[in-house]
Formats: sequence, C-alpha cells, structure tokens
Amino acid sequence: LADEDREARPRLMLMGLRRSGKSSIQRVVFHKMSPTETLFLESTSKINKDNIHSFIDFQVWDFPGQMDFFDPTFDTAAIFGEVGALVFVIDSQDDYMEALARLHQTVRAAYQQNPNIIFEVFIHKVDGLSEDYKIGTYGDSRPWLLLNRLLKNTQRDIQQTTTDELADAGLENVQISFYLTSIYDHSIFEAFSKVIQKLIPQLPTLENLLNILCANSGIEKAFLFDVISKIYIATDASPVDSQSYEICSDMIDVIIDISSIYGRAAIGDKSQGYLEDQQDHQEDWSQHQQDAPEGHPDYDDSNGHHHLQGSQALVNSNNNNNNDDDQSVAQTNSSNHEAFSVIKMGNGTVLYLREVNKYLALICLLRAETFEKQGLIDYNVQCFKEAMDQVFELRRAEKTRRELEANQ
Ligand code: GDP
Repeated sequence: LADEDREARPRLMLMGLRRSGKSSIQRVVFHKMSPTETLFLESTSKINKDNIHSFIDFQVWDFPGQMDFFDPTFDTAAIFGEVGALVFVIDSQDDYMEALARLHQTVRAAYQQNPNIIFEVFIHKVDGLSEDYKIGTYGDSRPWLLLNRLLKNTQRDIQQTTTDELADAGLENVQISFYLTSIYDHSIFEAFSKVIQKLIPQLPTLENLLNILCANSGIEKAFLFDVISKIYIATDASPVDSQSYEICSDMIDVIIDISSIYGRAAIGDKSQGYLEDQQDHQEDWSQHQQDAPEGHPDYDDSNGHHHLQGSQALVNSNNNNNNDDDQSVAQTNSSNHEAFSVIKMGNGTVLYLREVNKYLALICLLRAETFEKQGLIDYNVQCFKEAMDQVFELRRAEKTRRELEANQ
C-alpha cells in the first residue's frame, strides 16, 4: 500500500492472553468466518500482521511469548509508537486475574511510550450462559436479567480493579473503555465500530455530511461501512438501533454473495482464503470489479433482478475500466466505476447501497415513498461522495504540508 494510504487508516492492535479469543475475533470480523468454526482454530502463536485490504490497519499480538516487557530487546517504542488503539481481550468465562495483571502491565508500558494511545478492553465471550441467554431473549426474561447482572458484576469488577490499579500507578489520565463482546452476535462489530470511530479525526465532518444527506433526502438512517469488516465508521445523528445496523450489515453479505455468483457487482469478497493466503486476500472490491466479463469494457447491467427471500434486489454495476493489466491499487482507485445496489423489502423499507471509495460504502434506510424520488437521492448521494473525497484529500494534503515543513 502507498504510504499516504496507510497513514490515513486507523491503526489497531489486538492483545490478550492465549485462548482469550483474538484469532476468532479477527477471523469473524475480517474474514467472514462463522463463529462456530473458530472452535477449531489453532491458538495464535506468532505476531499476526493481517494485511487486510480494509479501511482499518490491524495487528494481533499474543501473551505470553511475544510480549515480554522485561526483555531488554523488546522494542516498546516501535511497537506502541504508531498505534492508535490497543484492544485488550479478556476471556470473561475464565478466571481473569492473570489477564488483568497483563492488562495493567501493558497499559503502563504502552502509555509510557505513547500517551495518545487509546485503550479498549473487550470483556469477551459474554455469551457464556448461552442457554439462559436464549431463553431470556425469547421468553421468560428472568434468566436474561440474571445474566445481565452477572455481566454487570464482571464488568464492574474488571473496570474497578483496572482503574484502581492505574490510579495507584499514577496513570489516572489514561483513556480506557470497556465493552461486553461476543463473536456469536453483533456486539463484537458494534464494539469495533465505537473503537474505530474514536480514531477517525474526520468523524465530526463525516457525521455532519451524513446528517445533511439524511435531512435533504428523507433518508431515515445512513451508515458509512468499512466493507471488508462490516464495521460502520460513521452514522448520522439519529439513534442507532441494532436492527437497522444488522440489516445493513446483512445487505453487504447479500451483495457479496450475488456478486460472487454473477461476478458483476463490485464488492470485496472476503470469503476467499484466510490468513494463510494473505497475498491472495489483497483483493478489494475495486479490484474485484476486474472480474467482469472480458470484452465489455464499458458495460452497464442494470436489469439483473434477483429474488431474495421475499425481497427484490436490483444490482447495478458500472465498470468503465476493465483493463486486465491494471491490477495496482492506485489505478483502480482512479477509475470511475462503483458499486450500487437497491433492495426493496416487503415491509416498505428500501436499502440503498453506494460505493464511496475502495474501502467504504454508504448504506441508507428509507421508506419506499421517499425512494420514488430516486433522482434526488442519487444526486444527493453523489454530492456526499464528492464531499467525502474532499475530506480525505484534505487530510492527505495537510499531512504532506506538515512533512514539508518538518523537512525544512
Ligand atoms: P487466541 O489464542 O486469543 O487467538 O484465542 P482463539 O481465537 O484461538 O479462541 C480460543 C477459543 O475461544 C476458541 O475455541 C473460540 O471458539 C472461543 N471463542 C472465541 N470467541 C468467543 C466468544 O465470543 N464466545 C465463546 N463462547 N467462545 C469464543
């Protein structure tokens, strides 16, 4: 990846004891593995630089083994210097005292090197009491309450111990937050969304743009998604309910499935290969477009209707650049093709997806009546896209300017 491209991406580090669930999180979030498949994962044994082609730059580190702060050759400056957020995973089903000790040690070492680092603690595997959880969700609410109380206690315990410990060490100013997560539901994606949002300096601008878009187009909810991970990096000011988040994230899956069957819609396919074949995994959704049929450099198939369990999908992909030799990211980035899709659901809701850049897609929820003015929506979305380009372009320009100044 080009340097400026790496720079613009939020950098994350995932740490925790062995078997706490790091690889599972990585596979489920970034590689579309189903949660049950993670039961058979080998434990992480080496630093895992996962060069995923996502908006998010992501690494996984393991305890014990890789992290020995007392080893003089251990280069904490290099490790923590560039990281935006350090996510520490704690297995809530296990005795978490050792994990807490490691967490405190890590926070101290990392904070010394980089006081800007944001610490995020995932109290993980909270689906623990899975049977109760299910009963609680579908019927009698008592077990659910019980589980809730248990979780709250666990969270309070972990949070309290941690803040006390850090205060004792004189580190009360460390930014540290706690989340309850599980790979068996959307909680892991939602936690990541919150984590990532803190790392995006342009967030207020993006939110503002989304607000303007919604207000002027009658859109009920708009999310800006990182396509590969299905983490949303920004949304408009209206409240997020998990149902609308889930339906939008499912839409990405639907589009990915359709595009892999029909090979036309342009969207990243993360079902191909896991870490073992990282090279092959470098595809992004722009590159994927180059799988379009040969000899159709300028085709526009807007008539593909596919019936999907009670909803009607119209997948429309424009591809104006089908140069087979052209595999470089820079090239695909500069071409003017994009993914676009609309799903009309039986309940009168319309899902509207539009590619924004090679990592990001805009997904909007709106009423079918509102969608009758599709021209207006298309136009406003186009304006939104252009504004987004400017936001990221400005950041790049700003960085170059600062570098030039520093060199003088
Ligand atoms: P790592 O060593 O930290 O990379 O841990 P792994 O990812 O190998 O996970 C260890 C075990 O925890 C695996 O058997 C996973 O299936 C399981 N696991 C991971 N996440 C969850 C979760 O959210 N809930 C439950 N119940 N199990 C999980």
